[in-house]
Amino acid sequence: KQKEILLFIKEKREIESNLIARKFKSPYAQIKKLIEKEWIYKEKREIFTNSIKDPGLSYGKKITLTEPQKKALNKIEEALNLKIFSPFLLYGITGSGKTEVYLAAFEKVLKKGGKGLLLVPEIALTPQLLSRFKNRLNTEIALLHSGLSTRERFDQWMRIKRGEISMVIGARSALFAPFSSLDLIVVDEEHDTAYKQEEGVKYHARDMALVLGKMVNAVVLLGSATPSVESFYNCEIGKFNLLSLPERPGISSLPEIEIVDIRRTKNDSQFLSKKLIAALKENLKKREQSMLFLNRRGFAPFVLCRSCGEVPRCPNCSVSLTLHRDLKKLLCHYCGYSTDFSNLCPVCKKEELIPVGMGTEQIEKKLKDIFPEATIKRMDKDTVKKRNSLTNILKALREKEIDILIGTQMIIKGHDYPNVTLVGILLADLSLNFPDFRSGEKTFQLLTQAAGRAGRGEKKGKVVIQTFNPFNPIIRMATTQDYLSFYKEEIKFRKELNYPPYSRLALIKFSTNNKQILFEGFNIIKETAEKMVKESLNIEIIGPSFAPLSKLKGRHRGQILIKGKNSSTIHRFLKKFIKMIEKRVGKSIEIKIDVDPYNML
Ligand SMILES: [Zn+2]
Ligand SMILES: [Zn+2]
Repeated sequence: KQKEILLFIKEKREIESNLIARKFKSPYAQIKKLIEKEWIYKEKREIFTNSIKDPGLSYGKKITLTEPQKKALNKIEEALNLKIFSPFLLYGITGSGKTEVYLAAFEKVLKKGGKGLLLVPEIALTPQLLSRFKNRLNTEIALLHSGLSTRERFDQWMRIKRGEISMVIGARSALFAPFSSLDLIVVDEEHDTAYKQEEGVKYHARDMALVLGKMVNAVVLLGSATPSVESFYNCEIGKFNLLSLPERPGISSLPEIEIVDIRRTKNDSQFLSKKLIAALKENLKKREQSMLFLNRRGFAPFVLCRSCGEVPRCPNCSVSLTLHRDLKKLLCHYCGYSTDFSNLCPVCKKEELIPVGMGTEQIEKKLKDIFPEATIKRMDKDTVKKRNSLTNILKALREKEIDILIGTQMIIKGHDYPNVTLVGILLADLSLNFPDFRSGEKTFQLLTQAAGRAGRGEKKGKVVIQTFNPFNPIIRMATTQDYLSFYKEEIKFRKELNYPPYSRLALIKFSTNNKQILFEGFNIIKETAEKMVKESLNIEIIGPSFAPLSKLKGRHRGQILIKGKNSSTIHRFLKKFIKMIEKRVGKSIEIKIDVDPYNML
């Protein structure tokens, strides 16, 4: 019997243990022996794909493509037939069916015996996408992401290398999988900053996908409802081919948008306006679901002493501490420092510390007070820490077990829930004033994507946007999903100030644990930079200055931004510059270089 089981497993290569039990009567004792003899090994795996039911939507059946979808597919197919590197940008408004185009294109590739790679920003957030691909493509799909064990990763890689797998879905690291050949690379949500690897070797997965596509003569398809300014610019100058899906298919239409001016409202209604509460009530009555988006976790972003004005700050970083009432702690979101919270002020010793402002934790509590009968869940970094909790929340949402979901930007990423008909954006301004030339672009993307969650099924959607800047053009354009107008404005601004795509940037960050040394470093860096700028053309410098987070994890931080005409001028400059600075400051200051930076803090 042992031998039979072994042969059975050998034939399948890998198999779930319950399937063995279906074929053999109580095989577990034998399996155990086989494991002891090291003939086979056992491991626990998380099954992403089969855990989500798709009520009301059968992804298996083929959907007729709309005219724009067909047109896009034809262009892609032509390029596939040529077997040369061709980059495309698929710009389609939210809910316009970009995934259908991906699926159809991959189908064509697989039918001809080709190979495909789909990159997604975060694999855990896309369980539906995975089951949809599995059902439609009818082939084995390898999933590559950071959650795999070394063993699992090794297995997947070997199978890709041997050519046993033709379709891979993965996060950015999947780009390094050992394909023998590759025909189509799709980068979904190409604007997503999760594609930028910030630790260790810094790279941007979208750019790497293009490099890889060039190397292996593949078609590279970038998709987004809010393309990065760089990618759209590349279409304008003819580097990429633009494909567009300008409308939602079928009867679903763009949601109705209401902007709520919260400048003159007080206290609580700044965060949950009367209009939003009325809309939530209405939705509960109709038994439809709502999503509320607030890009700030915790109970309150800071606490303040009413008596002496003290605001407790992180001892290691130049930020105030966030109150997490569930934990009864004040936390630093940058270094993890934490301290117990009571309302006793550490300075004047009066019991006067009060929370100021609002985070998702507090909104959840307030909603539960207002709607005690509703099922309200929160999705942010704090609630999805436990294994499977993210999958469980998404599953409950899909199965209509949640009435109101409140969350950070996690909730707006690529989810498709037909019964979500109301989206509330609580503080639309949060990302607007970030010290980053991309703050406008990021705000537009966040708001458009958030608003795009509403009304993706047959029911009409509604979006309520609460803002202190009701006339801000970026907020206005996001409400109508007017990407083209946004792009026109944004590209003008980039050109005027010589920001990418009109230049390349490198951010040099330097840090030390001694403030005095940093000051001395400033002078050396300034001197060196100014001297070098005089010698080299096409280089512009901004700084040196303190970093927006002037202290982080106990280190004092400064930065200097280098603008160059193109990447070779930048690299030539950097090489010389770093060498000269290192010669003068030695090891006393740590220097880090980030080319094409996305994190300006
Ligand atoms: Zn005080
Ligand atoms: Zn800190």
